[in-house]
Amino acid sequence: MARPMAGSSLWSATCREEAGAIALDRDLDVDLAIVGGGFTGCSAALEAARLGASVALLEAHDIGHGGSGRNVGLVNAGLWLPPDDIAAALGQEAGERLVATLSEAPSRVFDLIERHAIDCEPRRAGTLHCAHAPSGARDLENRFRQGNRSGAPLTRLNADETRARTGAKGLHGALFDPRAGTINPLAYCRGLARAACEAGARLFAPAPVTRLERQSDCWVLSANGQTVRTNALLIATNAYHEGLEGPHAPRFVPFSFSQYATGPLPDAVRSDILPGGEGCWDTATAMTSFRLDAEGRLIVGSVGNREGVSGRIHTSHARRMVRSLFPAAGEEPFRHAWHGTIAMTGDHLPKLLAFGPNALTSFGYSGRGIAPGTVFGAAAARALVTGDVDSLPMRPVTAHAERFARTRAFTCEFGAALIHACGPGSR
Ligand SMILES: Cc1cc2nc3c(=O)[nH]c(=O)nc-3n(C[C@H](O)[C@H](O)[C@H](O)COP(=O)(O)OP(=O)(O)OC[C@H]3O[C@@H](n4cnc5c(N)ncnc54)[C@H](O)[C@@H]3O)c2cc1C
Repeated sequence: MARPMAGSSLWSATCREEAGAIALDRDLDVDLAIVGGGFTGCSAALEAARLGASVALLEAHDIGHGGSGRNVGLVNAGLWLPPDDIAAALGQEAGERLVATLSEAPSRVFDLIERHAIDCEPRRAGTLHCAHAPSGARDLENRFRQGNRSGAPLTRLNADETRARTGAKGLHGALFDPRAGTINPLAYCRGLARAACEAGARLFAPAPVTRLERQSDCWVLSANGQTVRTNALLIATNAYHEGLEGPHAPRFVPFSFSQYATGPLPDAVRSDILPGGEGCWDTATAMTSFRLDAEGRLIVGSVGNREGVSGRIHTSHARRMVRSLFPAAGEEPFRHAWHGTIAMTGDHLPKLLAFGPNALTSFGYSGRGIAPGTVFGAAAARALVTGDVDSLPMRPVTAHAERFARTRAFTCEFGAALIHACGPGSR
């Protein structure tokens, strides 16, 4: 088997967008400072600049270094939790409001892409949530009923229809969501950053924030030996938070997910795989994703850290997964392989944390951050710049804790390794 290059992300190899971040080489005084240059931070910077605020975004590495540059690129509508569970957790009114906001969120993403001509391979062909087993088909039936009641335009596919739509063997049905689509996520993130710069925001990278304190009437941040004084502050560091301890830090369970991409498939192989261009994931406990990019590369992913101690197990499983789902592509070598960390919360709901005067942290999208991050970032910026807290998609909390986060992360990685070690095609 050809070995993929270590940590070589397809998204960075094919991204043509430039973010426009510069070096932080002086002290600044701004209306809004943002820590973190992913979807949340870049969307916030764009919105705040559009509202006329002076904005500084500080990113520790490169724009899109975190989950935003590493994900599957499925622009989903809604969260992983079905609507009734969201309402049960948040209360009927707040739950319905969040579901309605996130139902529209893919349109917001694709509108931004169009408006700012972001070069990120957008394709709004929908997603297919696929049943990996008969139990998965029952889960999809439940999601279909709940989605329908909340107005989601979902369609059920039986096993034969799923086979025809995906070209994949062994699936037991699927749920089609036409609101969703696929992108190159790193290119979308860098394009958002570029749009924010064009609107007047200043983005700085690499600029790791190493100190944060409240002084009499403002927040003061330190990065690269410079000081940024600001009236309002958004922490948008999610699973990649580093270097700043305190009540503002996101609390979550880190959850690894690895991806592998072939080179462009030969036409004869490609024509049978996802001819409609949908993005897919499944109902398995160790969830699997698959999709194509614009050049016809097959990208598969599953739970687990390919760079960790069980890396070989996850990589062998990815190969077996391709063989079992798409036998014709079974021996296509992986040319790219990378992994990322997802910020899961115990209730699988995102959190807006209000930790001081004019200060928010937004995190915990639990694997659904492209559209939610875009929406939460913009709404947080609006609330911080104009005081319009009513348009926040959720009511902020003042504290959030995750119990036994390390133990739960270990259990998840160990469980995925066990499942992946258990024979061909096991999911
Ligand atoms: C492998 C994987 C697959 C996923 N698949 C999907 C998917 O298909 N669809 C979907 O909707 N979502 C998906 N997600 C989730 C989604 O990617 C995340 O929810 C989203 O990227 C979060 O964006 P963010 O801007 O909040 O955080 P991030 O993109 O993680 O950005 C945080 C940034 O903060 C910076 N930072 C941290 N500390 C500091 C500091 N002290 N100073 C300055 N900067 C700092 C980091 O360097 C990082 O760039 C996936 C996630 C992963 C990891």
